[in-house]
Amino acid sequence: MQSLEQVETTLTGEEADFMQAILLVDDNEANLLALSALLERPGLKLLTAKSGPEALNLLLKHAAALVLLDVQMPGMDGFEVARLMQGRADTRAIPIIFMTAFYRDEAALLRGYRNGAIDYLYKPINPVVLKSKVSLFLELDSQQHRLERAYAQIAEQKRYYQSILHAVGDGVLGVDARGIVRFCNPAAQCLFQAEARDLQGRPVDELFSGEAIQTLSTDGAQALVDAEALGLVEAELLRVGGEPFPVSLRCTPIGGSLDGYVLAFQDISERKCFEEQLVAQATTDPLTGLANRNGLKLAVDMALGRAQRGIGCAALLLIDLDHFKAVNDTYGHDVGDAFLKEVAQRLKSCVRVSDTVARLGGDEFTVVLDELAESNDAAMIAEKILEVLSRPFPLEHGSIATGGSIGIAVYPECGLDAGEMMRSADIAMYRAKADGRNGYHFFTEEMNAKVKVRMLLEQSLRQAVDNQDLFLVFQPIVTLDSQALVGFEVLLRWEHPKAGVVGPETFIPLLEECGLILPVGRWVMGQACAYLNAWLDEGLLPDGFRLSLNVSQRQFAGVHFVEQLQEAMSSCSIPGSLIELELTESLLMKDLELAKERIASLRTQGISVSIDDFGTGYSSLNDLKHLAIDRLKIDQGFVQQIAENSRDLAICRTIVTLAQSLGLTVVAEGVEAEAQAERLRELGCDCAQGFHYARPLAADEAEAYLRGGRAP
Ligand code: C2E
Ligand code: CA
Ligand code: CA
Repeated sequence: MQSLEQVETTLTGEEADFMQAILLVDDNEANLLALSALLERPGLKLLTAKSGPEALNLLLKHAAALVLLDVQMPGMDGFEVARLMQGRADTRAIPIIFMTAFYRDEAALLRGYRNGAIDYLYKPINPVVLKSKVSLFLELDSQQHRLERAYAQIAEQKRYYQSILHAVGDGVLGVDARGIVRFCNPAAQCLFQAEARDLQGRPVDELFSGEAIQTLSTDGAQALVDAEALGLVEAELLRVGGEPFPVSLRCTPIGGSLDGYVLAFQDISERKCFEEQLVAQATTDPLTGLANRNGLKLAVDMALGRAQRGIGCAALLLIDLDHFKAVNDTYGHDVGDAFLKEVAQRLKSCVRVSDTVARLGGDEFTVVLDELAESNDAAMIAEKILEVLSRPFPLEHGSIATGGSIGIAVYPECGLDAGEMMRSADIAMYRAKADGRNGYHFFTEEMNAKVKVRMLLEQSLRQAVDNQDLFLVFQPIVTLDSQALVGFEVLLRWEHPKAGVVGPETFIPLLEECGLILPVGRWVMGQACAYLNAWLDEGLLPDGFRLSLNVSQRQFAGVHFVEQLQEAMSSCSIPGSLIELELTESLLMKDLELAKERIASLRTQGISVSIDDFGTGYSSLNDLKHLAIDRLKIDQGFVQQIAENSRDLAICRTIVTLAQSLGLTVVAEGVEAEAQAERLRELGCDCAQGFHYARPLAADEAEAYLRGGRAP
């Protein structure tokens, strides 16, 4: 923008062709001549009129800077001329100096002023006064003239710049030092899909969607400094409707001062879209639509990043298809392509949408698994993949079968970056091939062995549950003094078709780990209640008899535990007084509050609770005191050596004393010999359980025991 000074210098150039004019009006020719002679000077035009009408006529054609007007004229006098000049817009502002011979006519004077007189000159006119007055008015006039010109020029400049601002395709916002939008050009309005009034007056922050650019507006002065350093940045602006659009944006302080700044921005949606397309093309396999090698690298990096941040573990599966070459050679490339596409679909069906399936070219596929709970899950997916690949692929005539070999690398055991993980998976894949096709192999042998054993066990456990290879045995609990039966402890057994009966120590932890403990635990409760029901019907249960059920941590913590037990009991009409739950110290201590709450609700149904394996955990006496339990079961580890080891004897004595002081009964577990029973009796222990009395009994044996009152 031009400054006023600059405008003035350009004006002085034009001064040359600017000529001022004075209109002299007097009916006396001699007066006119005398005035002309006095005022004549270069650059000044003198117009003369001998009457009012002539004067008005001249004023229609010429612009005059001043009118010297004789008051006393025949016909139309000076006042009348002045009055008529007042009536016209283009003559109203012309200053008039009246010339009059009458000195003290006050009324005439006032009349003159009313009609527009600026000043009076009295005849005979003093030349010095005349000249100085006239030059004063001329000076005023020329200043006025210059100002008008300057304004015109500025207005012109304004129009010029505005039309530029309006014509540019970039959005332009003028923002003041407080971060308020003061100006917006049509392009800006168009991009924001807003009217000027929607934008002007708003804090500029509100127009940005991201946080990145916040600094531009928060603090006017600092923002400008920062903004200058920012140069061209990419940001996201918000249309009035709230929809974001990407822009490249430049922020420039106005006039170098901190009065505000200009934001000029360009919509880059199309470019962004194009860039995204390019990225997609660069990371996608055109045949299958899966990720290509680049896409895979990105996915692996992301998965490893997440695993590093502790969000589960990540695994890479490298899949090599069997017989693909044969398919290609026999049926041609079109069939080969269709086959690969089908493989891609099947692989995708095996993983979650958040996982990545990639094709590295040929028949080599890769799967990136993210946020896995454990490496075992990778093996499960590998099995799923092998299963879907083994299904026949339909062709136009007939179908083909394939299979694959899968190498698995788990982060971080098998590699710390994408490259290492790929190499590990590759090596593992060759091992899988060497093991015979249609299998998977982990990179580390240890992991491989562990996972395979686990998978096998898990698989057969699932089968056992399905095939009902699980069954219950019952171990009697008797009083130490009279060997009267007080209850059975229910113990779970698994009859493996090949390995025979498997003890719960082996498979209960497994059931816990894979979550199968919940359905199995529920099954145990149901079975136990069914037996109780049958024995109850037969009237076989002695007074005070209780069936003790072992409950694992995961089962007890399950939200539906109490509910499910109730369900099992009520479906067989079993009263709570027939049921006892055995909870270990570690289970109770894991979440004491939950335990208290659960135990309280169990007790309202008459169910009793005992602490199993007592002495092996580290429960505090204080905590025990607050738990509403009925019995302590001394762990068999303390019972076994009780006759020989004085320390074990001391421990058992302490436990019995403690139980008595808390009003609890005590059961000694694992009693195998009379000597142990003898010691326990001496200590005042109430009940015992162990091979000395009875081994865990099959259901029919347990029934016989109930009938006969002793082990068969
Ligand atoms: P536990 O609750 O301590 O069960 C007592 C274990 O001692 C049983 O082993 C029993 O067979 C064994 N036993 C009994 N008398 C003697 C004896 O005189 N000498 C010796 N050496 N051992 C004796 P089992 O049946 O192998 O059960 C092992 C553990 O598995 C149990 O320990 C219990 O914690 C768990 N368990 C068994 N059945 C279930 C079940 O249905 N659910 C849950 N959650 N856990 C169960
Ligand atoms: Ca037990
Ligand atoms: Ca026990």
